[in-house]
Amino acid sequence: MTYFLKFWQGLGTILIGMKVTFRHLFIPAVTIQYPSVKPELPERERNRLYVNMDDCIGCLQCARACPVDCIEIETVKSIPGEDLGKTSNGKKKALWVTKFDIDIAKCCYCQLCVFPCPTECIYMTDVYEFSEYERENLIFDFVTLTPDERQEKKKNYEEFLIKKEAEKAEAARKKAEEAAQKKPENNKEEDKLNDKDDKPKEQE
Ligand code: SF4
Ligand code: SF4
Repeated sequence: MTYFLKFWQGLGTILIGMKVTFRHLFIPAVTIQYPSVKPELPERERNRLYVNMDDCIGCLQCARACPVDCIEIETVKSIPGEDLGKTSNGKKKALWVTKFDIDIAKCCYCQLCVFPCPTECIYMTDVYEFSEYERENLIFDFVTLTPDERQEKKKNYEEFLIKKEAEKAEAARKKAEEAAQKKPENNKEEDKLNDKDDKPKEQE
């Protein structure tokens, strides 16, 4: 008798417990099968940044706006004869961007770097899965030039400056030479004038 009582008690307890589970069989699920199914992101979500280097003019406005200094940019002026083209909104490019690193580990996703960009080439993407085991791997390098090309641009500009300085020095030297050649003639004229000035005095 006790055996059957306990059996019915156990069965009743299971059915009470399963009532909640059975009810959810007919309620739409609120969970998703992540990562095979991705959640729909809000319209203004802030995730990983991206920089379209084809449109970047190296103006540094994004780096200046960043409150945590996680954007590092280096640029090199183009030399005469180099045509860097234009951005998609028609701005002429004059600087090679040889460094454009964003340390996403420091980024607080404030989006302040996005608004001042004159070419709208830095923006938030919908990428939010980019965990790394090493912090260094969270420094994103957006420059499209190869390491050799970056060195080459720097070298070209340095050589251009040296050449320009040499040309300036040469021009200054020539000017000094010309001035030196004119000096004796000027001196002769000055002597003549002095002679004229002296004559009346001698007569007195
Ligand atoms: S989102 Fe904010 S913290 Fe991140 S790089 Fe842009 S300005 Fe800096
Ligand atoms: S503000 Fe825009 S154009 Fe200027 S350096 Fe930053 S990403 Fe490039």
